[in-house]
Amino acid sequence: MIELNRGIRIIGTELWLDSTKARPLGFISHAHGDHTAKHQQIIATPATWSLCHHRLGSKPKAIPLELRKPYPVEDFTIELLPAGHILGSAQIVIENGQRIVYTGDLRLKASLTAEAAEVRPCDVLIMECTYGKPRYVFPPMEEVVQRLVQFIETAFEERKVPVLFAYAMGKSEEVLKLLGDRGYTVCLPKQTMDVVKMYEACGVRFKNYERFTNDNLFGKVLLLPPYLARTRMVERISNRRTAVLTGWAMDRETPDRFGVDEAIPMSDHADFHELIEYVEKARPSKIYTIHGAPDFARHLRARGYRAEHLAPGTQLALW
Ligand SMILES: [Zn+2]
Repeated sequence: MIELNRGIRIIGTELWLDSTKARPLGFISHAHGDHTAKHQQIIATPATWSLCHHRLGSKPKAIPLELRKPYPVEDFTIELLPAGHILGSAQIVIENGQRIVYTGDLRLKASLTAEAAEVRPCDVLIMECTYGKPRYVFPPMEEVVQRLVQFIETAFEERKVPVLFAYAMGKSEEVLKLLGDRGYTVCLPKQTMDVVKMYEACGVRFKNYERFTNDNLFGKVLLLPPYLARTRMVERISNRRTAVLTGWAMDRETPDRFGVDEAIPMSDHADFHELIEYVEKARPSKIYTIHGAPDFARHLRARGYRAEHLAPGTQLALW
């Protein structure tokens, strides 16, 4: 049985998965705020544990688990697999006769700062479905990079400052890696700089970045979290060209929603095709979807899978 209540619990265990409420024992798939809480004890990869320190303010008591290393918890064996979402992100495999896989946030394709997700065949799959609608099919990465570089070069030609908006944890580091390695100088605010330093402590190498100050942005790229888009800090840069980097760029209204000139579809999540590909490889006999719309479960049922969308407050038998 599983219970859904600000996180997922495998009933019969004290183990909660990605609970946003503090629990005695919690698996944290990755360090984004909507997956974390100050549990008494956490199970996470070493990188997620470090990033949680930043997020939660103190280093929680933890069982840092290396990927692909089975570990006993009560009557179960658990194992973490890479999830491809951000540095340290992991899926959890829970086994006790049957195999349950919980994906957390997922990206199937490899990225520059996170190991590509691994698919383990399973009986029950609990998966995220953020972009689980057919219109969310992202262009190939080369095309996205080309659009990003074009955006920056056009801004430079117009003697403007290219201002990019990307979440401080995960997306900004991916963009910094991509642009820094191409020789662009990237300016970062303190909150992003703090995360970059933690990525470096985990072994990721970055080039050509500096702390953002208002003077002398000429010929440089400014990389900020999206919540700063409509602030004076940005408005003061009169000669700017702005873009947000997000999977929601597939929606026409996204530039208006973020208050930017352009939206570029760079995502750290699986798109619709990748979600389907994951299910085809995992071959589960039952699928539960979370973190998205119920539409994806419907699409899976149309393809012949037993799939159900998990609504908060649900208690249900897994098999
Ligand atoms: Zn996430």
